[in-house]
Amino acid sequence: MDLTELTARESVMTRRGALKWITLAVGAGVVGGCAPFATTGSSRRTRRLLAPIRATEDRVIRQVVGLRPFRRSGFLVRAEPQGEKLLIHNYGHGGGGVSLSWGTADLAAELALASPRREVAVIGCGVVGLSTARLLQDRGFGVTIYARDLPPNTTSNIAGAQWSPVTVVDADRVVPEFEAQFRRASRFAYRYFQTLVGARYGISWRENYSIATHAPAAGPGGSWEGAILREMLPRTVLSDEESPFRGFQVSRFLTMHIEPSIYLPAVLQDFRIAGGHVVIREFSDARSILAIAEPVIVNCTGLAAGALFADPDVLPIKGQLTVLAPQPEVDYITIGPGDLYMMPRQDGIVLGGTHERGEWSLEPNAAEAARILRGHQDLFATLVT
Ligand SMILES: Cc1cc2nc3c(=O)[nH]c(=O)nc-3n(C[C@H](O)[C@H](O)[C@H](O)COP(=O)(O)OP(=O)(O)OC[C@H]3O[C@@H](n4cnc5c(N)ncnc54)[C@H](O)[C@@H]3O)c2cc1C
Repeated sequence: MDLTELTARESVMTRRGALKWITLAVGAGVVGGCAPFATTGSSRRTRRLLAPIRATEDRVIRQVVGLRPFRRSGFLVRAEPQGEKLLIHNYGHGGGGVSLSWGTADLAAELALASPRREVAVIGCGVVGLSTARLLQDRGFGVTIYARDLPPNTTSNIAGAQWSPVTVVDADRVVPEFEAQFRRASRFAYRYFQTLVGARYGISWRENYSIATHAPAAGPGGSWEGAILREMLPRTVLSDEESPFRGFQVSRFLTMHIEPSIYLPAVLQDFRIAGGHVVIREFSDARSILAIAEPVIVNCTGLAAGALFADPDVLPIKGQLTVLAPQPEVDYITIGPGDLYMMPRQDGIVLGGTHERGEWSLEPNAAEAARILRGHQDLFATLVT
């Protein structure tokens, strides 16, 4: 069931109506993760009753760490002619690389079209390299991807991944040119992902509950990016009667959820079907990248671009996740309080999060894992059931 439809139902459904609907839906085998609603107080406004997550130690199936490829002044999409060759950068997407991927791919493909040549090498096979390669194919280029790692061994596989391009730039480094690129890339990607919603790509619309101990609630709206994203991610502030969580300031917005373990192989398959080739190769420096045969080269090496192309602006923001056994009945995302978040995927319930700036270690930190689990136990103890 589409959540837009659910939200529309929400305003009119009474407890009796909800029970009747659930009975019908269960009978028809369509309930999946859809939850019932309860009317609150004397008003006709309703509170959605959410399926609780089971955040216990014995349900933890793995701990993972990823390094967000952050660039202080925001992602770099720029063409640099190098003699006979055209080098195009597309890296440094921080905590929003999945969300922005089709958008910066579109910016990079536009730069590639300035070359009369139609053979391109894309360096990197994370979400940014894959979407860049696919849009270049759609614009008539023959594309070879060169990469050290393929999915599932990329940072892109660690991402949550909610469509919400945040943590992509330091607010004091934003310049008008970047703001224009960010706005264009966000809009393009938001629309492009909508064409991919469904089981094949592992993308679904989900309600997101932003949870804070005091107003305003966390999530798109408070950050630099949030000011631009409000048009795509409008929020509804919930009253105490409507909120599924007791004792917090809660707002809700709708966005897409992209499951990397389904999505990345599907896009890689599309790339191959469209005639693309993949070469496994690790490059030690920029010179070895520029020595490859193709006349147009797009650099999508993420965090590694900092060292490869001597860009001091690039640094990691470590993110650690605790993954619980899957619960198909959980069909919503929570963000907060603080930096906690929960995203339900087919390969597990993902609990975040951490944002350790400048930290290169890929080792999970036991204290952080305990904090993430405890934080979610405390949050879900306040869930209205
Ligand atoms: C915990 C966590 C949660 C996140 N949540 C979200 C989210 O909810 N939404 C969202 O939009 N984003 C999220 N992100 C951010 C997102 O994961 C990144 O922005 C994105 O994955 C960056 O993609 P990329 O393709 O640039 O890099 P990568 O996925 O790292 O891919 C880089 C590619 O370059 C290749 N490469 C690197 N160096 C070399 C070399 N020397 N030679 C050859 N190949 C090389 C690699 O092998 C790889 O194929 C999250 C990140 C983390 C860590």
